[in-house]
Amino acid sequence: AEEVGGGDKEVVREYFNNNGFQRWKKIYGQTDDVNKVQLDIRLGHSKTVENVMKILTDEGKSLERVTVCDAGCGTGLLSILLAKQAAIVSASDISAAMVAEAQAQAKQELSGDDVMPKFEVKDLESLDGKYNTVVCLDVLIHYPQNKADAMIAHLASLAEERLILSFAPKTFYYALLKRIGELFPGPSKATRAYLHAEQDIERALQKVGWKIKNRGITTTQFYFAVLVEAVPA
Ligand code: SAM
Repeated sequence: AEEVGGGDKEVVREYFNNNGFQRWKKIYGQTDDVNKVQLDIRLGHSKTVENVMKILTDEGKSLERVTVCDAGCGTGLLSILLAKQAAIVSASDISAAMVAEAQAQAKQELSGDDVMPKFEVKDLESLDGKYNTVVCLDVLIHYPQNKADAMIAHLASLAEERLILSFAPKTFYYALLKRIGELFPGPSKATRAYLHAEQDIERALQKVGWKIKNRGITTTQFYFAVLVEAVPA
């Protein structure tokens, strides 16, 4: 079977329309019905989202009318924050359940004065158009490195000014944890997780003429993410 782009992608879509949707909707939500691990991941992820907003509004920069593509938007956490700052947001996800949830959240949280993000069910390979900024958070975990290169190249081709990516780093410690997880798979382990070395991501960006301008890392007990801001070299 092929990986992302073939078999794996169908598995990911199916997961995020069903069990994965239920699990991640809780993690990304605000309700109390989460266990310790899920709560830890919720807090870690919210730091990543916060850091993206910091990068985008650095030095008091306004996001008004700035076009942003939120690729793999999940429940829309980032898209909604961007819309509140008057950005023109295109949000998409491979999972129809995720997009419906994001849309419902946006309706609830945005007011009549805000510009609604444009929500679409789409995998990121079929995204087109040009955006000032392309953001893709915690999606690379579904891509093995050989598919990640093409994915990064595609996202960079859509971005005019910058591309912001987050991924699970392939450090020794985390790789070890993952291996232990594979030896003792829990019931919720429905998809494969791919970790990435920062140098591999950097090389993929360099190949298409982009360079890393900013990097940061968020680690909690169960959440590990490197966040990079890339710009044309
Ligand atoms: N970016 C969101 C966030 O940070 O709040 C959601 C992150 S969630 C861990 C990963 C999301 O990526 C899921 O909603 C999943 O459906 C989506 N996804 C996975 N593979 C995708 C693909 N090939 N194209 C578009 N979305 C994809």
